[in-house]
This record gives sequence, structure tokens and C-alpha cells, in this order.
Amino acid sequence: MTEPLTETICAVATASGRAGVGVVRLSGPRALEIIHRLTGIRPVPRHAHYVTLKRAVDASVLDDGIVLYFPGPHSYTGEDVIEWQGHGNPVLLDEAVSEMTRAGATTARPGEFTERAFLNGRMDLAQAEAVADLIEAGSSQAANAARRSLTGAFSRRVDAFVEHLIHLRMYIEAALDFPEEEIDFLSDTRLRDQLADLRAELDDLLSRTGEGVRLREGLQLVIVGRPNAGKSSLLNELAGESRAIVTEIAGTTRDVLRAEIDLDGLPVHVIDTAGLRESDDPIEQEGIRRAWAEIERSDLILLVIDATQGHSAEDEATLASLPDKPRLTVLNKIDLTGEPASSRVEADTLRLSARTGAGVATLRHELRQLAGLSERTEDPFIARRRHLEALESSRQDLEEAARSLIDLGAGELAAESLRRAQAAMEAITGRYTADDLLGEIFGSFCIGK
Ligand code: GDP
Repeated sequence: MTEPLTETICAVATASGRAGVGVVRLSGPRALEIIHRLTGIRPVPRHAHYVTLKRAVDASVLDDGIVLYFPGPHSYTGEDVIEWQGHGNPVLLDEAVSEMTRAGATTARPGEFTERAFLNGRMDLAQAEAVADLIEAGSSQAANAARRSLTGAFSRRVDAFVEHLIHLRMYIEAALDFPEEEIDFLSDTRLRDQLADLRAELDDLLSRTGEGVRLREGLQLVIVGRPNAGKSSLLNELAGESRAIVTEIAGTTRDVLRAEIDLDGLPVHVIDTAGLRESDDPIEQEGIRRAWAEIERSDLILLVIDATQGHSAEDEATLASLPDKPRLTVLNKIDLTGEPASSRVEADTLRLSARTGAGVATLRHELRQLAGLSERTEDPFIARRRHLEALESSRQDLEEAARSLIDLGAGELAAESLRRAQAAMEAITGRYTADDLLGEIFGSFCIGK
């Protein structure tokens, strides 16, 4: 059992510009007392109270706004939570935080409210991560997936798997406890069936999690091509109604651009390399270094060529300077050449028209495939690399368990591998179980002897 958290923390939760509303959140045992000191109010749970917040030093009015009270344990953090909604002026919000710290609160570290929610058992680790992923989601589908993870969709899958795993472990460990029957136990085909089921379940979870990671991280694309080849037109066509959001890469000349597109829910990060040239300016050099770092991380290089002009030596030179990544060539402006649009990718080349949209669906399909996303991802949840690594390590442990059990008949080794597989899975949700498996075995496994 963790120590109860005695500090009350406070921080600006949102500040939506000077015109909007700003929220300061307080959480901990002294939240009520602190807000009482500053406003004179003793708030009723889940009621909006219109009050004035006063400075302690001279009782002058700092701001007027709304106080909300969410009593623990049924609050976000599991503790008493107070939300102060004042005007969105950052200066006033900072001053409100200062008044609260003077009245006894501590300034919260980044993520501390969610950390407390985790420590107080309000959510598991994967859900806590989903909070951050929801805030940062780069597409509507990613946001939707993060919200599903937050409600526990991913955690429930992991928990269900762990439960099945525990079942198998119980079976094997029970066999080990009765050595005279061990051989019979271990050669039982039900054991192999269970192991096969677990592997299938894990494979499905792995592919879903892989998609979740893709949704979170998106696809990194480098777009190259001569000026006027139609790169921006193509990006806008791909982005559809959401339009490409184009920004400069900090420190570079105006023509090194980054675009974010929402490709039917998949966030695609695009780097346009047009301005990547040498420079003596240190700020420019730093910007270019960053752009190169992103290029190194890219998943695909997309070369856009004006079909009326064809390949040029310049294109080849640019390609030669880029890292060895999967490539796709797009011959654009086929509305001018009269060529047919490609219905599928042949020889890593696609013919299309950014103007008429002909052939763009094929490119879109290709990009989603490259990202490892099926055409329609059912009920996606968001996931992180950490989760994927845990699942992969668990998968290896299951393989080892199968080898130990089936090839060697070594129950001890198999049990050890399965224990590791479980630990890896539990690291995902952060559910720390100090091997309480024995209790589970003898509590629920009725051996009948
Ligand atoms: P970028 O410099 O590579 O980003 O090229 P732009 O997207 O700015 O396009 C350059 C010019 O080509 C613009 O006038 C576009 O309208 C035009 N353009 C782009 N794609 C097509 C296309 O598929 N067909 C035709 N006819 N014109 C296009």
C-alpha cells in the first residue's frame, strides 16, 4: 500500500488565451480549506459557485469566477479536487496559483494530477498515458483511439490476456507441485491448446497495438520534387477537407516546410526538403540539422514529378542525397498528359492528378497500408512503443514456454517463462502484483486431493 499523499497540489490546468476561461486545479486533503481561505466559500459537491477570489495580503479582489468541488474518492485524482475557473489571463491565473501556494498548496509537477489518479487507483498506467495521448492526438481518429484507451479498452484486453496466462500458470505450477503426476499433466494436450490460444490472442493484441502506435506516432513522410511539380497541391488533396497544416521548421529558411495531414484519421507528418541547403548561419544550421533528424526517422520518401516534364537530373541528385528509405514516385498532372491514373502501385510508381483527384485514392490507400493500418481499423485504441515492446517480450517468453514444455517437457522452465511473460504484460498497466499467484492457485484451483 502506498503512503497517502498529504500534500495538496495546485496548477493552472488550462489557459485558453486572454479572452477565454482559465482553470486552476487544486487536489489534496487541504483543497477545501485553501479555497475557503481565498473565497470564503464552503462549496457544495458538484455545484457551480460564483465567487470572488481575494488576495490574502489585503483582501483585494484578484478575479471573479466559478468554483467547483469534486470530493474524493470519486474525483479525477481520487482526492478532494477544487477547480477555479477565472478569466483566461495568464497573469491572473499565475497569481491565483501563488495565492493558493501561500495558503498551503504545493505547485504541481507536470502530469502530477494524473500521476495521483494512477497512485490512487483511479486509472492504470496505460490509461494515464492515454490522457496525454488524447491531448496530443494528431488526428480525429487518434483522439478517438486515445479516448477509448482512456476508458480502459486497451487495459481490459491486456487484463484479459493476463488472466488467461495466470490460468495456464496455475495449471503448470500445480503440476509441478505434484511431481508424481507431472508427466501426465505436462503432456496433456489441453495445455498445448491453451498455450496456442494465448499465442493467438497475443498476436492479435500485437497487431492492434501496432496500429495504436501508428495512430499515435503517425506516418513520417519526406516529400521531394522540383518547384511546381505539384507537391502542395497533392498534400492538400490528400488532406481532403481537413487541409494540410503547414508550418516552417524552426530556424530554417521559409522553404523548409513541415505539413501535418490527417489522412482519414492517420496523422501524416510531411517534410518538404526544398530548402535543405548548406548554410553558414548557425541558427539555420541547427534548423537544417533538425530537419535531417526528421528525415532520418522517416518511413517513406515520396518523389513528385511533373508528368509533362518527366524525371530530371535534379530529382535524381536530391534522391541520392537522402537516406535509404522506401520510395514511391508520383507522376503528377496526368490530366495534362492524358495518361490513365494508376489503380494500383506498379514498380513503385503511381500516376495521378492532384488537380482532378484521379489516382489519389490509390496513393491514400498505399500510405495507410505502409503505416500498417487496415482500411477500416475497428475500435482502435492508442498505444505506445513501450506497450509494443512489452507485448513483444511477452511473445518471446511464450515461445520459450512452448519450447520448454513441448520439446523438452521441462515444466519448471516453462513456468519461469510464463512468469516473465506475465510481468511484461503487467508492466503495461502498471498493475504491480508481488507474486500473489500462489494465493490465487490455492484459493481457486480445486485440485481435489
Ligand atoms: P509545388 O511547388 O511542388 O508545391 O507545386 P504546387 O502544388 O504549388 O503546384 C504548382 C502548379 O501546378 C500550380 O499552379 C498548381 O495548380 C498546378 N498543379 C498541381 N497539380 C496539378 C495537376 O494535377 N494538374 C494540373 N493541370 N496542374 C496542377
